[in-house]
Parts: sequence; C-alpha cells; structure tokens
Amino acid sequence: MSTSSNTAPSAGPRPPEFATWMKQGNNITQQFLSFGRRPGPIVLSGGLPAPELYPISDVQEAARDALEKHGSAALGYGAVEGLFDLREAIAHRLSTDRLSLAPENVLITTGSLQAVELIGKALIDPGDAILAEYPTYLGALDAWLPRLPRYAELPHEAPWPEAKFAYVVPNFSNPTGAVLKRKAREALLSRSAESGIWLVEDDPYGELRYEGGVQPSLLEMSAVPGTAIYEGSVVHLGTLSKTIAPGLRVGWAVCAPDMIRALAQAKQGSDLSTSTFCQAVALELIRKDADRRHVPTLIDAYRERRDALCAAAQEHLADLFEWSVPEGGMFVWMTARQPGLDTYALLPFALEAGVSFVPGSVFDSRGLVSPSLRLNFTANPPDILQEGVRRLSRAAREFASR
Ligand code: PMP
Repeated sequence: MSTSSNTAPSAGPRPPEFATWMKQGNNITQQFLSFGRRPGPIVLSGGLPAPELYPISDVQEAARDALEKHGSAALGYGAVEGLFDLREAIAHRLSTDRLSLAPENVLITTGSLQAVELIGKALIDPGDAILAEYPTYLGALDAWLPRLPRYAELPHEAPWPEAKFAYVVPNFSNPTGAVLKRKAREALLSRSAESGIWLVEDDPYGELRYEGGVQPSLLEMSAVPGTAIYEGSVVHLGTLSKTIAPGLRVGWAVCAPDMIRALAQAKQGSDLSTSTFCQAVALELIRKDADRRHVPTLIDAYRERRDALCAAAQEHLADLFEWSVPEGGMFVWMTARQPGLDTYALLPFALEAGVSFVPGSVFDSRGLVSPSLRLNFTANPPDILQEGVRRLSRAAREFASR
C-alpha cells in the first residue's frame, strides 16, 4: 500500500499544556540535588547522609528475616495505613509516661515527605493558608505547590492568623540547623490550641544530636497524660531515612486517629500502600533496634564533619559570612555580612570554583533574594569539606571583586 502524497505531514503531539502549578514552581530541587550525580563540584548542596555509613549488613539481615518471617505478605499489596505490626512498633517506641499511642495513631508513609504531601492533599484547597517559617524545608514547598496554597510567616508569640495548619522542623531545621527551645515549643502549642490550627512537627533529624540537651517533642508536650489514645492537634513525622538509609523510603505520621483516616484516604490514590517489602524490612530493623544502635556511629562521624566544616569556615570565610554551629542535623546556614548580597548570584561563581551550595532564596516561599546559603556537612569526609570551603571562599572573593 502506497502512502498518499497529499497526506498532511504529521504534526506530532501537541506541546503539553501543563497545570498551573507547574508554571509557578521553580523546579529547583532536582537541579541542586543532581549536582551530586555527575562528576564535578564538591557537593555541599545535597541533603544526603553519608552513603558509606549505611548499615548494609543490618539491612541485609532484616531483608532475609522479612522474607522468612513474613513470606508472601512481604511481597503483596498491604493495608493503606501500613503493616499493623510496624504501626504498633512505632506507637510503642514513641509512647512515654505522658504520651500513650496506639497503632491507630500511626500511618506508614513512603518516606516522611509523602506524609508532608498527604497533609497538603488532605487539607489544602487553592488559596488556603499555611503557616511556615521563612526559610523552610524546600521539599515541603515543592510537595504543596500543586495545592496552590498561600503562605504566612509563623509567628512564635503573636496570635496566629487563619490557616489550615502550621509547619515546623523543630530539631536542626532544614535549612537553618536551628532548634526550637522549650519556651518556643510551649508558645507554639498554646497558639495552636488557641486558634485550633493543626501543628505539623517534621522531625527527620531529632536523633542526630551532637551536643546539647534533648528537647521534648511537640507531640509529647501536647499529650494529655492518662488518656488511652492520643487525640491532640500535632501531626508528628518521622523517618528511617537518616538513621538507616533514605532508599528504604519508610517514614510515618503520628497523630489523632481522625487525621490518620484522612491521610490514609489521601494516600490511597497516591500509592495504595508503602512497599510492603520495605515495611517488613523496617519492622525487622526496628524490632532489633538496629536504627538506634546505629545512631552513635552516625553522631561520631557527623560531629567530626560538622567540626571540620566549621573550622575551615572560621579560617576562610569568617570575614564574609556569619553562622551558628548547629547542635545536630546536617546543615550549616551561613549569612553574608554584606547586606543585600544575593547568594543566588554567587552560585555560578561557586560552581566555577568547583563547589555547590543551596542559595537561601529557594527555601523562602516568597522567593525573596537571600544573603544566606545552606551547606551540607554529612555527605563528604572532612578533607573534602575543607577543600569545599576553600573553594567557596575563593568564589565569594571573586564575586565581591567582580
Ligand atoms: N522533612 C525534612 C525537613 C527533610 O529535610 C527531609 C529530607 N531531606 C524530609 C522531610 C524527607 O525525608 P524522607 O522522605 O526521606 O523521609
């Protein structure tokens, strides 16, 4: 059969008409995280744990046990809320004298970022307000973008404006590394109670504390002692990403059963359930306390790395930037001494010098020019961190004299 010569040439598919939110996003997360995937600069822009410290033999053993003990249940579809035994193990682990948790308080999620996303899916209509700190976690801003929310700065003392929920990273915040002290936690809880606004406590870093005293969680502080099941207004998020490995993609939301049901409904259409295999592996790890036993190793290594980065910064950057040494977590937040300096404009100079960082503006829901930048200290050994800081210092001086 011959093709007719007067057939109109195929126009090909129409260019996709992307949704409104795609035009709003700065789609910057991938850009910064991807620096690490090709040879090139020293990557201080990532947010990754040290891969050489993943407890591979513990995961290997847990994976074998998961298949032996759970058999086909570890390979089938599971309940949307998560494996009951894992929900129970997490409820048990987080319960204290004043906080009594049941499996009904726990939803297993595909990393804690999925819990962040589900909260937006369950609560936000376009134009609804979220109270968040400036700056705040970029992944949360990305996750909520399709919901078209508004943001208002979370006031720590003043009464809260109308909003669907408030979002905080109270331990070693991403990006600032800051910790909310007890008084600030109390203030948040009173404001949340006064206004009836849900309070999301995102806590992936709490266990990575290198010095200083542990603060009680907002979840625990908001509990009414003596009640059989938690019914408060905090949604607490946790994960195995920092204490075991992010590739497991196992996290959890802990909150009142009504909210768990809403989040489970939101999750149903997202992924049916978190990988049952990964959940069974997580259960075996948690039963053996493998994650908690691994934490001291991480703390020793990360403290040394933090100290190496901060000492190098003291030597090479102190005239240009200021920062506080974080008590834990993965990041140092530096702010230029020169008012009005735009770290986004500094970035190409840094890449040219062979080092990457994340400019502060991407953590601001308003996208304002920022004189700050975030450096990660967990994913590189001390000597590489020191070289990264030297390169950043060279770049900043070249930028200043351009
Ligand atoms: N919340 C915060 C504040 C984070 O920094 C991260 C990871 N970078 C996450 C949530 C998501 O972690 P995961 O989905 O791997 O549990």
